[in-house]
Amino acid sequence: MKVQVSNTNTPNWRDITVKSQVPAELSCLAVLAKNLWWSWNSEAKNLFKSIDKDLWKAVHENPVLFLQRIGYERLEEITKDKQLMHDINEVYEHFEKYINVEKRKDVPSISYFSMEYGLSHVLKIYSGGLGILAGDYLKEASDSNVDMTAVGFLYRYGYFTQTLSMDGQQIANYEAQNFNQLPIEQMTEKDGRPMVLEVPYPGRIVYAHIWRVNVGRIKLYLLDTDLDSNSEWDRSITYQLYGGDWENRMKQEYLLGIGGILMLNKLGIKTDLYHCNEGHAALLNVQRLVDYVQNDHLKFSEALEVVRASSLYTVHTPVPAGHDYFDESLFGKYMGEFPAKLGIEWKDLMNMGRENPDTNEKFSMSVFACNSCQEVNGVSWLHGKVSQKMFQPIWKGYSPDELHVGYVTNGVHMPTWAASEWKEFYVKTFGPDFMDHQSDPKMWEKIYDVDDEIIWNIRQTLKNKFVKFVKDDFRETWLKNQGDPSRIVSVLEKINPNALLIGFARRFATYKRAHLLFTDLDRLSKIVNNPNYPVQFIFSGKAHPADGAGQGLIKRIVEISRMPQFLGKIIFLENYDMKVAKRLISGVDIWLNTPTRPLEASGTSGEKAEMNGVLNFSVLDGWWYEGYKEGAGWALTDKRTFQDQNQQDQLDAATIYSMLENQIVPLYFAKNSKGYSPEWIQYIKNSIAKIAPHFTMERMLHDYIDRFYMKEGKRTKLLKADHYAKAKEIAAWKEEFVSKWNDIEICSVSIPDGLLYNPHVGEEYEMTVVIDNKGLGNCLGVELVIANVEEGNTEPYKTIEMKPVQTDGTKVTYKLRYLLNDSGVFRYSFRMFPQNPDLPHRQDLAYVRWF
Ligand SMILES: *Cc1c(COP(=O)(O)O)cnc(C)c1O
Repeated sequence: MKVQVSNTNTPNWRDITVKSQVPAELSCLAVLAKNLWWSWNSEAKNLFKSIDKDLWKAVHENPVLFLQRIGYERLEEITKDKQLMHDINEVYEHFEKYINVEKRKDVPSISYFSMEYGLSHVLKIYSGGLGILAGDYLKEASDSNVDMTAVGFLYRYGYFTQTLSMDGQQIANYEAQNFNQLPIEQMTEKDGRPMVLEVPYPGRIVYAHIWRVNVGRIKLYLLDTDLDSNSEWDRSITYQLYGGDWENRMKQEYLLGIGGILMLNKLGIKTDLYHCNEGHAALLNVQRLVDYVQNDHLKFSEALEVVRASSLYTVHTPVPAGHDYFDESLFGKYMGEFPAKLGIEWKDLMNMGRENPDTNEKFSMSVFACNSCQEVNGVSWLHGKVSQKMFQPIWKGYSPDELHVGYVTNGVHMPTWAASEWKEFYVKTFGPDFMDHQSDPKMWEKIYDVDDEIIWNIRQTLKNKFVKFVKDDFRETWLKNQGDPSRIVSVLEKINPNALLIGFARRFATYKRAHLLFTDLDRLSKIVNNPNYPVQFIFSGKAHPADGAGQGLIKRIVEISRMPQFLGKIIFLENYDMKVAKRLISGVDIWLNTPTRPLEASGTSGEKAEMNGVLNFSVLDGWWYEGYKEGAGWALTDKRTFQDQNQQDQLDAATIYSMLENQIVPLYFAKNSKGYSPEWIQYIKNSIAKIAPHFTMERMLHDYIDRFYMKEGKRTKLLKADHYAKAKEIAAWKEEFVSKWNDIEICSVSIPDGLLYNPHVGEEYEMTVVIDNKGLGNCLGVELVIANVEEGNTEPYKTIEMKPVQTDGTKVTYKLRYLLNDSGVFRYSFRMFPQNPDLPHRQDLAYVRWF
């Protein structure tokens, strides 16, 4: 036998996860850790911090990890610490009191679908504004006690964390999340085995685990396909947020919509309404249609009535390029079996996703969402208008102004985004019931009675905290990644809470124009290097890994920040996430935003700033178009001077410099003997009183309830009653109407010669139209449409209804007496359309014939 140097194999590891055990007296801590209530209640966060401050920091403020790391001995110790036990029990009592409340019954129950949720920096299932909005929405639904259930994904890698190379190049790191260390709970079967959802994909089943996030009183269910039982190809469906190719995106959106509904079915959750946050989830309506057809034996057309009535689609994108489109072949690969289940043809399904049916257009998720949801809304007043134009091609018979596309302006969850110092101050100053009346402007007006110095002191405290945060949290990464320790020390020394701090942080998409400030470096250098009036800019933000231009912008800012004249004056903070955002948003004096109009659908970071007495300086776009008030912040005008974007950028940059030089910097430094500028404080008071209350998440949720949920809830109930009697009636009526539509004949149109050849203001003219409706009866609307074309466009329309005055068999005469009021150049036309009081709006059956 020959003796070898060694003879061994590798360890044969078997995984088990030992759940951390906390003493029975402390089981409430484990409950608190697994409900994100802590993320917006300072008392809960302070509690964890008070148990072990260093550990709390070391675990990045993650209470689940905190309890795993703290060690059994220390926990035993705590049980003997009377004061601490008292504090723990007190917080837990508050939590229980909050949780144990019946859900509101007067508002319909809602399922909310979103690709991402920004709830806490701990749970990396968000990338930016869309996700934060969804996260804030759930928190407010909890606070307002609305019966909402949410659906999303648990990403293994989430969105990337950002570091910078020596030369400022963004490096995207995807770190696997350890699900055992997150504030989530796995859904299990009765015997304790993980629950597995089976989602039929073409030719195979994709298996998914279901995880639950407790968001106060609200449950968010997350799908996770990272299972051994899936092929490599399917495991990765929930790896990354906005990663992979189009096929992966198709697989994701299939999982979110189809899988999401199957999951709710499995969990036994049925709600009155379904809210689609952005088009990604729109396929949920396909599965809902299938359920109505298969389980309730409705015809497709009847099912569509019910599904439409109970769905709302919120669009967040202002440009068509921002929507998802799938090639027919790719879409067919995944959706090919659905038409048979629905009793329709393949082209019927495709056409629901096309602006122009029966063409070879790709399947557009947003067009499908518009066609399968009764209500559609944009996310600010301006974005509502932009969306009407964007979606006009779907409903060509109508002008953008006439479309049923509404809006709800985005808001932010105040308890999440206001610093605890401000929250305490608000409750103390505005009254103990303030938290329940956050959107009542009367409450906030009490800010005018507050001593200037108090406000200045809160601001100064938060600025100091922010500066300390930068010094503590960034020193190490900078030393590690950015070389030249002496430069870094000098940057850290220069960060100055007495300077005017201006923050700019958001996704680095080019339309956000982060480069604008750097158009004239000499001028900028003079602004930041004025020895009496020091100004510092802090930048932060990620660029999408596929967005080279966005990454180039970051690199450019980093380069500039290293030029001697800008060292410590322009600072870039890596890895913008909710934690950095919260510090930044409360710690600077001004929040700057310079998007190209109208590409900022709403924007929310500026609203977060408002909750913290931080003033906005922004382009009049998105929410700021509504929010801006004189003496409460600054606005770059919405008037466009140049067609050429470069020239416009130059002009906007010059305006920014001159507003800083002449208005903003002097205002901030007009300090009195107590060391602050009373005029500046007046601006803060104005912005808190006049702007902040209108942009809370409470206001936003109530807008959704008032404008959409109540209306849809009522109509859905009507359609479902009596075994869907009304839905069936409407579907049958539509079918009959449509079958006769092409036969309808315009027999005559008569317009007086006087109007045609010599119209006069003040004269009344009678117009007559005769239509043979081929037996459709009294369900045609006819109207005269007038447009003033002096400004070069034919919008908006003015419409005047024509009344049926005489019926002769199937021929109906419509008449109108029209008083000519205004002089000018006009166009007119007539149009007819289906009319039925049971329809929610004109585009519900968008048949229009102009003549
Ligand atoms: C609020 C927030 C955003 C969205 O900000 P916008 O102003 O809408 O661009 C993005 N990322 C993070 C981390 C945020 O907190």
